[in-house]
Amino acid sequence: MKLARDDWFDLARKLDWTYGYVGERDVFPEEASGAPWLPHDAWAGWNEPFRTTYAEYVATQAQKEAAVHAVREAVGRPEDFQRHDRRWLSALKLHAATLPLAEFAATIGNLRAARFARDSAWRGTALLGALDELRHTQLPLVALHDLVKWDRQFDWTHRFYHSNDWVAIAARHVMDEMLLAADPIELAVATNFVFETGFTNLQFVGLSAMAHDVGDRMFETMLKSIQTDEARHAQIGPTVVRTLVAHDRARAQRLVDKWFWRHWLLFAVVTGFAMDYLTPLAHRRSSFKEFMQEWVLDQFARSLADVGLELPAYWPTFLESLDWYHHMVYASAYTYRATVWFDLAVPGPDERAWLRAKYPASWDALDPVWERVAERWRESGPGVEWYTHGTTPVGFCSLCQLVLCGGTPARNTAQVVDRDGRRYIFCSEPCRTIFEAEPERYAEHRDVVKQILAGEAPANLLELLRTHFGLTQDEWGKDVAGGDYPWLRR
Ligand code: MN
Ligand code: MN
Repeated sequence: MKLARDDWFDLARKLDWTYGYVGERDVFPEEASGAPWLPHDAWAGWNEPFRTTYAEYVATQAQKEAAVHAVREAVGRPEDFQRHDRRWLSALKLHAATLPLAEFAATIGNLRAARFARDSAWRGTALLGALDELRHTQLPLVALHDLVKWDRQFDWTHRFYHSNDWVAIAARHVMDEMLLAADPIELAVATNFVFETGFTNLQFVGLSAMAHDVGDRMFETMLKSIQTDEARHAQIGPTVVRTLVAHDRARAQRLVDKWFWRHWLLFAVVTGFAMDYLTPLAHRRSSFKEFMQEWVLDQFARSLADVGLELPAYWPTFLESLDWYHHMVYASAYTYRATVWFDLAVPGPDERAWLRAKYPASWDALDPVWERVAERWRESGPGVEWYTHGTTPVGFCSLCQLVLCGGTPARNTAQVVDRDGRRYIFCSEPCRTIFEAEPERYAEHRDVVKQILAGEAPANLLELLRTHFGLTQDEWGKDVAGGDYPWLRR
């Protein structure tokens, strides 16, 4: 006789033992399970709406895998990728590098939750989450592997997080803290609540819509397939946050504030570049700012209100940075393009008109940067890579590890803090506040400049990117068109 699902599922899912010969605190120590440490009763109401059994999980995932592989068979060969615009391929290289090994770190974070989270249903859902994240590691690695022999920059899909490239240091700094070092409570707030319900819609809905318009069915299918998993295991978040708010509201607010800002900076780079600069103009439907407003701001404000939390205190700063931050970093990255593993494009007259229409508050101040860049290309002629910078590396934020690009071209928001005889510099007020709330967590980190000062990395920029970042000349970033833009020709 076969038991009906509903006759056994709740019993199996909510199976928390009463411990006989050890205490609950020994089974779930605070260092591993997270603060505040509460008796199990406080977590016993933990629930999420998907309520998936393992058998259902396996059946559904097998179908999703079959669907992705069918698309890969049809349109996933190197010659299919070679048809895409080179700017779009740059967006793909940027995502392909930052995504898969962060997903693998998420596997580890979820496995920790599968052991140390405080309710059995939470642990079970985290275990399925770990399997999801392993799939998200494998999909981009397998999809892009064949491209390596055609274009060496795709090798960074796997190599990126193993390198000392400055973007990798910044991405590792945030991903390691969130996924490898966080306890299950902080993981649930940072990953499930803020990242997966706050930001990944933008990534998986907004960006996959752009992939569709560009005609990149492989990337579109992969993103959508990943998103169906994220939507399920993201449900770990709200119920953890509610319990945290009920017992330690201040910690809940502080974690939400910290993680929204940290994710914002990384998203501005990865998704901001793709949406406003690397997607061909004809295929752009909305600007990055519009996507943020549609997919992140409203929903995040609603999610916070639902759990009884406030918008972060830096909200006005954040809203202002929507007009500036990713533009500032992109201009900086273009100037220092040899320090990254993908190519960058100069926005032409049509794109600059589009950017001016989308960013009326900031574009007049940003446009002269591109006028100067275009002028340089007119002087040098196409095909000759030039760099406006000297041979000295730039400065990086002591919290986010990204280049100091806060504020506007006229007013940089960098802040200096002296602490225990050491000097720290931050790109923005929120980065400084996050650092100062947990200095013991961040103070010992050594960014590229500190490594150079300690003699562990070369001070000469070309040497630095060859020997320390691990970029060879055929891999490092160049102008996507070699300066040969139709609008530049006389
Ligand atoms: Mn994932
Ligand atoms: Mn996830």
